[in-house]
Amino acid sequence: MQPMTQRFTQELRKLERDSHDKCSSCGRSFHEADTAHAGYSINGAPLYVGDCCEAHLAETAARYYWQPRAYEIPEAEAPLWRYMDFSKFVALLKDQALYFARADSLGDRWEGAKGIASNKSKWDEHYLQFFRDGFRNPPPGADFNISEEQIEKEAQRLLCELGAAGEHDIRTTYVSCWHEGNVESEALWRLYCPPQSAGIAIRTTFSALNVSLGDDPSIRIGRVRYIDFRKTFAGVNDAIFRKRQSLGHEKEVRAVIRRFEPSEGLGILRPVELPQLLKTVVVSPFAPPWLEVVLRETMSRFGVHAPTAASELILEPFF
Ligand SMILES: [Zn+2]
Repeated sequence: MQPMTQRFTQELRKLERDSHDKCSSCGRSFHEADTAHAGYSINGAPLYVGDCCEAHLAETAARYYWQPRAYEIPEAEAPLWRYMDFSKFVALLKDQALYFARADSLGDRWEGAKGIASNKSKWDEHYLQFFRDGFRNPPPGADFNISEEQIEKEAQRLLCELGAAGEHDIRTTYVSCWHEGNVESEALWRLYCPPQSAGIAIRTTFSALNVSLGDDPSIRIGRVRYIDFRKTFAGVNDAIFRKRQSLGHEKEVRAVIRRFEPSEGLGILRPVELPQLLKTVVVSPFAPPWLEVVLRETMSRFGVHAPTAASELILEPFF
């Protein structure tokens, strides 16, 4: 077995992201506990393969147990919406950057949560057992000779570290939230751009959002899954893509950036290509009549050209 070099080019990261579910050489699907190998061919081309095609690797960057992706990826043309106050849109035009809010500042105290506090003992026991098993069944070649008492102490220490890592994660994870839907949402207009306010919604697509952020594999973009925390837990690596079922109407797709340390302030700005992002800018049905003109003039001042449209909610019915 060749040693792992841990050398990852951007191309290899992208291949790992795009081909996540299957061997990039032969197309065979991965299953849980299969080994995935990331590396390069003799010609230096990136490869992400299963044991089936391991022989094609001249260099192994890393190999690991394959796991299903923590989130579902929408179709390329899936329509995404972002409802916002006009002043925030002006900031977007000025900065040419998308604001990613720190997870603990999003206003939902369940962001990043693993489960319900009253079920924590079950979670703790599961992980304690997992750690104990790890010490009792070390990998071949490892020379562990520790007493049951030490195993218990080490398992408790690792559990403590796991809890601290969870707390750290929500202060080092940054999120840009979008709504997935084929049509405008009256509920979201009312929530983010209430009557008497000047609001707009950006309409884009999953693919356009990804490309406008530089097609960067370190930014994870996917659907939030709404789960019943009374019956299940979020996983250690997927909690940022799990929310309570009572928020299911949000149909959220989020872009997520992880940092090692918290930034100063409650968010970070990420450069974005506005011509790619802004498929249409829709004016709130509750906005004052002057907003559409001001919106076009403001975009033009910042040299940004994108189609604008009135909300379909202002259409008049007949009886
Ligand atoms: Zn293969």
